[in-house]
Amino acid sequence: MPNVMNTVAMVQTAPRTLQARELPVPDIGDDDGLLRVEACGICGSDCEQFTGVLPVRMPVIPGHEPLGFIEKVGKNAAKRWGVREGDRVVVEPILSCGNCAICKRGLRHLCSDMSEGFRCYSYIPVATPPSLWGAYSKFMYLDADTMMHKIDPTLPPEIAVLYNPLGAGFRWAGELGGIKAGDTVLIIGPGQRGLASVLVAVAAGAERIIVSGLSKDQNKLALARRYGATHTINVDEDDLVSSVREITGGAGADVTVEVSAYAVEPVAQSLSTTKRGGTIVLAGVKGMKEVPGFVSDLAVVQELTIKGALGVTSTAFRDAIALIERREVDLSAMHTHSFPLAEAETAVRTLAGEIEGESAIACCLLIDSD
Ligand SMILES: [Zn+2]
Ligand SMILES: [Zn+2]
Repeated sequence: MPNVMNTVAMVQTAPRTLQARELPVPDIGDDDGLLRVEACGICGSDCEQFTGVLPVRMPVIPGHEPLGFIEKVGKNAAKRWGVREGDRVVVEPILSCGNCAICKRGLRHLCSDMSEGFRCYSYIPVATPPSLWGAYSKFMYLDADTMMHKIDPTLPPEIAVLYNPLGAGFRWAGELGGIKAGDTVLIIGPGQRGLASVLVAVAAGAERIIVSGLSKDQNKLALARRYGATHTINVDEDDLVSSVREITGGAGADVTVEVSAYAVEPVAQSLSTTKRGGTIVLAGVKGMKEVPGFVSDLAVVQELTIKGALGVTSTAFRDAIALIERREVDLSAMHTHSFPLAEAETAVRTLAGEIEGESAIACCLLIDSD
């Protein structure tokens, strides 16, 4: 009998159904590797995957924000990734060719080589060998097209795993928003990516940082203030546009970063919260809904720049890792919940706000691999 080692993964078999399953640990060749998963951040999109809002082929192992150790690595892969067995790394979610025109511009998260379809950890089904394509698992396969980064092995896992939301802050508020010293920045949505945007705005020297949220977001708005937000707005009580106008003396923000989930109203409002010549970054997905009241003339007459933001560049991941490794910011306040692998469902539902009495900011799985 072949000596095949098995591992345990949480497999999504249907909407709202995660089951523990034993799967074989694959053999590794010269160009790929195997990650021993230590922790996996829970993404907002994990909630949409869990409920079935995101159309994902099942059965599938969710989880695309892994932190872990290189368990095995082929000799070519080791050279390409610059890692050795035992190194602690974080893994980028999207698999890209590295050779197309878009990849060569440094935008590997937008790779245009779709010959094998859109390839991203947590969305490749178990039926595609070698099955371990997600980080809700003790081991995750490392495909040859993977991008990864080493991270300080002495950081607590629940802090190191924040590289993903922080990377989004560096990409969305930093690289795309182009925040400069002295700017006024409006961040709509105080979730983990909104808070990351606050940290990036502070680092860029923004003078005024306004964060908006709902009544249920009070703990997040308080943390935004602790991280350097100068103003917070509860849009359940106050109108967003008139509050921003009041705070900015009628001018609006240089940069508006829209990171709220599902709400379409802020997208229309951002045309009125942004200064003439300013920039709007749209990063919150809305379930493909249309935006009522979106008056494009407001963008024309004010020469607004509107940018969409999807993923995170390698440069933004590196900036996020550097911020974590400097240990200057108390990131422990952002991490609110850890769960063992077997409680992945509770982890997702906690981030989604489905668990009564729990107010989560960042949640992760802490995976015990022994
Ligand atoms: Zn994600
Ligand atoms: Zn490419």
